[in-house]
Amino acid sequence: MDVVLLGTGSPMPDPNRAGPATLLKAGEGGLEQVLVDTGRGCVMRMAAAGSLPGLLQGVLITHLHSDHLTDFSDIVTTHWIMSQQPTPLKVWGPPGLQRYVDYMMKALEPDVGYRIGHHDDLTWEPIVEVTEVSPGDTFTLGTMSVSMHQTMHAPVEPTIGFRVEREGKVVALAGDTIPCAGLDELTTDADVYVQTVIRDDLVKLVPVQRLQDILDYHSSVEQAAQTAANNGVTTLLMTHYVPAPQPEQYDEWIAIAAEHFDGEIVMGDDLTTVTV
Ligand SMILES: [Zn+2]
Ligand SMILES: [Zn+2]
Repeated sequence: MDVVLLGTGSPMPDPNRAGPATLLKAGEGGLEQVLVDTGRGCVMRMAAAGSLPGLLQGVLITHLHSDHLTDFSDIVTTHWIMSQQPTPLKVWGPPGLQRYVDYMMKALEPDVGYRIGHHDDLTWEPIVEVTEVSPGDTFTLGTMSVSMHQTMHAPVEPTIGFRVEREGKVVALAGDTIPCAGLDELTTDADVYVQTVIRDDLVKLVPVQRLQDILDYHSSVEQAAQTAANNGVTTLLMTHYVPAPQPEQYDEWIAIAAEHFDGEIVMGDDLTTVTV
């Protein structure tokens, strides 16, 4: 499996970092594809990664924070207008996702009407099949088996991490969370653990309350490394960096993690890829 960081950014606009989104590619030609979260610019980054919404077997949503959903409508619309026949887009996520999708589809109604009215061969509306999932649920997506685990990002509830297993390899996609029992289950013996991280030491230096507020519901680099070490992870893949580091600062971030975890530690720009 390839784990592609499509977007390594956060809610803070950054010309070089798309919003949170991670692509899994597996199978013949990497054509078995699953998208986890749909942050700002994810469709552009998918194109750069050799993907398109029409290739997705499924979309997994960790939680309903806007930075993880900004471009979900782009996924839906691009999936639809490039389809040659009615094709459902399958989405799994926490309770509340169906309501989000219902409202979004309402907002897209004018566009859907214009395009169906204009293109004689486009006679169907977008089809989005939502499955709301809870911790403990499992399902299969092609050759991938997926299990859901409770994460902790209060007051955002519910939040879900996805553990994807294929041919004996495990990718744990945690989303935004602090360390908790569910995160331990999610990451146990994972080959790759993808964690959104903040540098709490740097954030604490900024005297802005709204930024200080993020400290209590994201993993710091240290906490991500400790989770990786405690649970037998092979590779820690960090993303969703706050503050956004310059490339020359990556070594510093990795060194902080390496104080707590002696496995492989990876961070990088958008499109950074780890293969397991
Ligand atoms: Zn969040
Ligand atoms: Zn976030």
